[in-house]
Amino acid sequence: MSERADVVIVGGAVMGSATAFFLRRLGHTGRIVVVERDPTYRDASTARSAGGVRQQFSTPENIRLSQFTLDLLADLSATFGGEAAVPFQENGYLILASGEGRDVLARNVETQCSLGADTVLLEGAALSGRFPWLVTDGVAAGAFGTRREGWIDPMLWMGLFRAGARDQGVTYLHDEVVSLAVAGGRIESVGLGSGGRIACGALVNAAGPWAGALARLAGIALPVEPRKRYIYVVDRREAPEALHRAPLTVDTSGIFFRPEGRRFITGISPEEAEEPPAVDLESIDHGFFESAVWPGLAARVPLFEEIKVVGAWAGYYDYNTLDQNAVIGPHPEVRNFYFCNGFSGHGLQQAAAAGRATAELITTGRFATIDLARFGYERIGLGAPLFEENVI
Ligand SMILES: Cc1cc2nc3c(=O)[nH]c(=O)nc-3n(C[C@H](O)[C@H](O)[C@H](O)COP(=O)(O)OP(=O)(O)OC[C@H]3O[C@@H](n4cnc5c(N)ncnc54)[C@H](O)[C@@H]3O)c2cc1C
Repeated sequence: MSERADVVIVGGAVMGSATAFFLRRLGHTGRIVVVERDPTYRDASTARSAGGVRQQFSTPENIRLSQFTLDLLADLSATFGGEAAVPFQENGYLILASGEGRDVLARNVETQCSLGADTVLLEGAALSGRFPWLVTDGVAAGAFGTRREGWIDPMLWMGLFRAGARDQGVTYLHDEVVSLAVAGGRIESVGLGSGGRIACGALVNAAGPWAGALARLAGIALPVEPRKRYIYVVDRREAPEALHRAPLTVDTSGIFFRPEGRRFITGISPEEAEEPPAVDLESIDHGFFESAVWPGLAARVPLFEEIKVVGAWAGYYDYNTLDQNAVIGPHPEVRNFYFCNGFSGHGLQQAAAAGRATAELITTGRFATIDLARFGYERIGLGAPLFEENVI
């Protein structure tokens, strides 16, 4: 059986749903089909995200992408209607730097503030006075987002776009894209696992960690792959209220923690040489918590010497191995193949603006809200990275 759609979006989690939502919002009236192989989203990055929203990035585009989400959060009903509710836990982010990293941190704070963020650089007594639970040995400064930073529920956020897209007549198809037919510099159709085929006017890659695999079906190299990350849930009995109000804190070592209800979540990205194989999400390396997380966490926040691990999960980062930044826009030669990929662990907060940007490109051929030209695929072909320094 063969059918046709004006836009086929592969992947129906946060990125695909935001793209579909904004295509309709921008007046696209054609047939839009979102192909999603797992409507339970069990392994999707979105479902396993920590939900953090921050303005503390080094790349101006990343700051703007997250600010778009913050603007939406400030008045959800304006975009999604009166019933929309996604609680925003606005505790802030606190990013710590050693003496070596201090100048970079200060420069990043300047960039953020020049774009309207309220990030302050705290040093010495100002830092330890504000966060009395913190040991500041080896810390030269901390950058703290005093407002408009925190975390949200990832699936509630995704649900707004998905429901909004469906309400506007977008079709969600439970199937897997297993082949792409390319001819004359265009994707002509997608082949489905069920045996069907959909001819398409435009194709959007919203396949998250599997974006590289999808691009390969068209013979295109996209350096995005799944990278397994662990999040550990810990209980600290009778923790002081100040710790429950803590920001998402990133140590100089890269270890992070934040409150999660009455508990806390914590983790760290492994060294490149220690990346665990991305073959399943069921196996959790508890030894990694013992060796790579707990000692550093307890050294920075001694209250965490007495904790119990009460849960853990693993998820795949949609990791761009070139520069840990997103790839947004069409392929330079296969012009109707649009990427919305490679967010490397910060895509939940950027999905709204990235989806909108992708929709703008499809409907008008140019960016209108945020100029994301530097995130284009061209830099991949040129091997010219645009590094993001604040990857957590
Ligand atoms: C542990 C962890 C913590 C994170 N913390 C944060 C955070 O604090 N803040 C933040 O902003 N971001 C965070 N992220 C990153 C963020 O979750 C992702 O960047 C974002 O969810 C990516 O969304 P996506 O829709 O592109 O990908 P996904 O959510 O992975 O969705 C891709 C979808 O595509 C489908 N798919 C793939 N291939 C095919 C195919 N061939 N055919 C049909 N369907 C297909 C998959 O089934 C999947 O549902 C975190 C991620 C992880 C894993």
